[in-house]
Amino acid sequence: MSEFDKDDMSVEIKKEDKEEKKTEEKKTDSNQEDEYEDVCFICRRPESKTGKMFKLPNHISVCTDCMHKTMDTVSQFDYQGMLNNPYLMNPGNLGMPGQDSKQDPKLGQKNPTENPEDQEREQKQDQLKERFPNISFMNIADLQGDGGIPNRQRVKKKKGDIPPIQIKDIPAPHKIKAQLDEYVIGQEQAKKIISVAVYNHYKRVATGTMNEIEIEKSNMLMIGPTGCGKTYLVKTLARLLDVPLAIADATSLTEAGYIGDDIESVISKLLAAADNDVERAERGIIFIDEIDKIAKKKNTTSRDVSGESVQQGLLRLLEGAEVEVPVGANSKNAMVPLTTVNTRNILFICGGAFPDLEEIIKQRLNKQTSIGFNADLKDKYDKDKSILSKVAVEDIRKFGMIPEFIGRLPVIYTLEGMTRDMLVSILKEPKNAILKQYQKLLELDEVKLEFEEEAMEAIAEKALEKETGARALRSIIEEFMLDIMYEIPKDDNIGRVIITKAYIEGKGGPIIDIRKNAVTLDEISKMKTITSASQ
Ligand code: ADP
Repeated sequence: MSEFDKDDMSVEIKKEDKEEKKTEEKKTDSNQEDEYEDVCFICRRPESKTGKMFKLPNHISVCTDCMHKTMDTVSQFDYQGMLNNPYLMNPGNLGMPGQDSKQDPKLGQKNPTENPEDQEREQKQDQLKERFPNISFMNIADLQGDGGIPNRQRVKKKKGDIPPIQIKDIPAPHKIKAQLDEYVIGQEQAKKIISVAVYNHYKRVATGTMNEIEIEKSNMLMIGPTGCGKTYLVKTLARLLDVPLAIADATSLTEAGYIGDDIESVISKLLAAADNDVERAERGIIFIDEIDKIAKKKNTTSRDVSGESVQQGLLRLLEGAEVEVPVGANSKNAMVPLTTVNTRNILFICGGAFPDLEEIIKQRLNKQTSIGFNADLKDKYDKDKSILSKVAVEDIRKFGMIPEFIGRLPVIYTLEGMTRDMLVSILKEPKNAILKQYQKLLELDEVKLEFEEEAMEAIAEKALEKETGARALRSIIEEFMLDIMYEIPKDDNIGRVIITKAYIEGKGGPIIDIRKNAVTLDEISKMKTITSASQ
């Protein structure tokens, strides 16, 4: 075989390869398409609810019900009046006029369209244009884009009722906790409780019922000051379990019909997190933050649309109900498709700081111990740091949560406020600790970043002053690291930077080590002054 022949062969093989790839791509595209179902253009219900739909041109689907209703309306139409209208009776004028979108800008001519339907439509458009110059007609289907309805507003088809989770696949509580330990510092009791509750929850999901004994839902209420890791704990948990998670803010929820998000929008969020896959969403986790903000308003005469009413509205979801939710939007309206989600197996975790709850607990405890022989001093609990962990259901009820709501959150636990030692550990110990992140960034510049133990303690002290828990840490560090991250890449000779307590307290600069003594001591002190001057 000559060299040329070989070349020809290789070109042909490559061509074949390309064609194969193309067909494969097409196949996967159509598979992805198959996973989504159509939604009725008129009533917005998905095909799984309406039954087979009529497929009309321009990616419009209409369900049988709506088609029948339309036909009924049409049959009652005043045809006589229509017959007398000369414009409407012109045969070229019937049918849906469309926008002229197929113009080729280069040629100034229309592209020939192969589809006979499109050709016919274009002909009708031209006729209309002649009759009504300066008026353009719009095709409603064009508003939905070239690909028809976007997937954001479509739901994945249900694949059938296969048990979604196998018991042997659920990690045991100690394994869940061990994984949480890698990321979340402290909060031992909370991690233990959450691991057991989650384990039981997914066991319940996997089995449905156990010998006719229905296992109760283990929805949770998490109480802890701001920045102690409530959201972080739930986020880490959802990632470890690989289930969809929606985080909603209770303050934005209002009773349906009032300004704000509908209560059911939390399910829409979960559906979006599950990629509009209803089956996956149905075993996800919903975290409702700031739950204390929907406590019953005291001494109010107006309707409590963002407090007690939201609690009432949430009852149904917490318990487990079939909820009709909008797909791809926060509230129901005519343009948004709806789908039904069953909340029976969705794990709800509510979290809040519950300010002033400590006072309520203290009052109760003082009352209990102020009578009789065992009477205690009144200020016994004033300095008790773990007072929050003594919370009882009646305290939460006194705070303003309605009994039915608390009753649906059987697992109640508290998280500790941040101490200095916890903050120091958060800085350096978690798998993705902030300091590790900065070390990695500078490592790419071949610079070693180190923090003195006292420097970390100084950062923790500063964070404690801000009273926003661990949340303050990042902003404090970013402030100090800005100069370092700006100055270090300027000089290739720098091999190591040590952050000192003096630098954090604004009394000095960081220690900068030069690679292999490449520069004199004078230059080092110059660099130090540069960094401290730019503070
Ligand atoms: P909140 O309790 O107000 O929901 P977050 O969970 O949002 O607080 O915490 C804010 C940030 O603080 C988190 O993103 C996380 O990085 C950090 N953090 C808080 N608590 C912990 C903890 N116990 N362990 C590790 N990081 C934490």
